[in-house]
Amino acid sequence: MELPFAESFKIKTVENIHKSTREERECWLKEAKYNLFALKSDYVYIDLLTDSGTGAMSDKQWAALMQADESYAGARSYYHLKDSIEEITGFKYFLPTHQGRAAENVLFSSIIKAGDFLPGNSHFDTTKGHIEFRKATAVDCTIDEAKDTQLIVPFKGNMDLGKLEKVLEAHPAEKIPAVVLTVTNNTAGGQPVSMENIRGISALCRKYGVKLMIDSARFAENAYFIKTREKGYENKTIREIAKEMFSYADFMTMSSKKDAIVNMGGFIGFRNEEDWKKCQMYNVMFEGYITYGGMSGRDMECLAQGLYEGTEFDYLETRINQVRHLADKLDEYGIPYQKPAGGHAIFLDALKFLPKVPREEFVAQTLAIEIYKEAGIRSVEIGTLLADRDPVTHENRYPALELCRLAIPRRVYTNNHMDYTAAAIKNVYDRRDSLTSGFRITYQAPIMRHFTVEMEPVKR
Ligand SMILES: *Cc1c(COP(=O)(O)O)cnc(C)c1O
Repeated sequence: MELPFAESFKIKTVENIHKSTREERECWLKEAKYNLFALKSDYVYIDLLTDSGTGAMSDKQWAALMQADESYAGARSYYHLKDSIEEITGFKYFLPTHQGRAAENVLFSSIIKAGDFLPGNSHFDTTKGHIEFRKATAVDCTIDEAKDTQLIVPFKGNMDLGKLEKVLEAHPAEKIPAVVLTVTNNTAGGQPVSMENIRGISALCRKYGVKLMIDSARFAENAYFIKTREKGYENKTIREIAKEMFSYADFMTMSSKKDAIVNMGGFIGFRNEEDWKKCQMYNVMFEGYITYGGMSGRDMECLAQGLYEGTEFDYLETRINQVRHLADKLDEYGIPYQKPAGGHAIFLDALKFLPKVPREEFVAQTLAIEIYKEAGIRSVEIGTLLADRDPVTHENRYPALELCRLAIPRRVYTNNHMDYTAAAIKNVYDRRDSLTSGFRITYQAPIMRHFTVEMEPVKR
């Protein structure tokens, strides 16, 4: 008999979680003004809000933490991290930051001016926020195939080279501080970008004299997909593939809370010394001295170790298999989601799931709320709330897709939790015809409104 798939780890420490009743959840939702970010985590049974900073560290990471050096400058832990970053990414220069958006803040303070353009593939929300805050424009050049959730293509996160070249032609190089390539493409559904596409983007960048930045939060998952889907990479290791990906870039920003499996941390990698030096001042102002940048020595030790573990094939296979396990269950129940399943999450297609809820009433948010009510599972809206309003007209921007994201934390839940989640979603799907109204906003912040928005149900 062929042996079934099994996880590449065993469990040494456990954390208990608790179920609640539907009545309790309805009351807590009302108190939270229907914003799932405002719920106490104790009110959540399975927390799929994000895979960011929610992973379980290994015994080796906890051991590294105890050996950290907390010196203010030149700490041994900084040098451990430097070696790890250089070995895994090939970047010789780096600045530590407390998380990914801090890396964006430091780098963008150095390179972006008002009126600039930064083309990319579905910029992440904080990335776009940092660009627009500086009165520059993020131009989305993602391939059109990414908008059709039912279309199965292996690299649905790719950039459309034709769209990119148009942007590069339309503006002088001085107005394009960088092309922003996000791997995997989080906003399009955790979809990977092929090495062929990265090479094409890099060639265009060189042709037009523009720098390439890789937003690298899930670079290891991207490398796994290249290994398992792209011809010519079957026999390369994850680390060889990751190094090749980064070899095309001038900068990388990293949210280490994703593929480096730590609870807090980030960094910026630089190809050349001059770019690194220009950023140091901003790092000192916003984050901390250049050898700790918002991280303690123990954070840096855990990150140095996490970069190695996050780029091991067996770990990645376990992770991607768990996401696929949930996807297979949803297929069994006929539930619409962004196909094929991405690296870190399942993205339910809310427009297909709840066709009777009007677009102005935040369809994906409505779905996320129903799933919480059903079973205490917290997911997140990736739709009109997240897309926010146009900075000029202040009108809602309706994205092509309304998605409800179920992000899977690394090394945290078992496949039984995935089965429970799939069953809860099926129950909501079975009563979808009765769900005809959504929510209206009663308070919103000027930018990045989804984190603090307050809402109330629309009653008809
Ligand atoms: C999470 C993330 C960021 C921001 O990182 P934080 O650590 O949350 O600040 C940037 N880009 C991508 C693609 C991400 O997934």
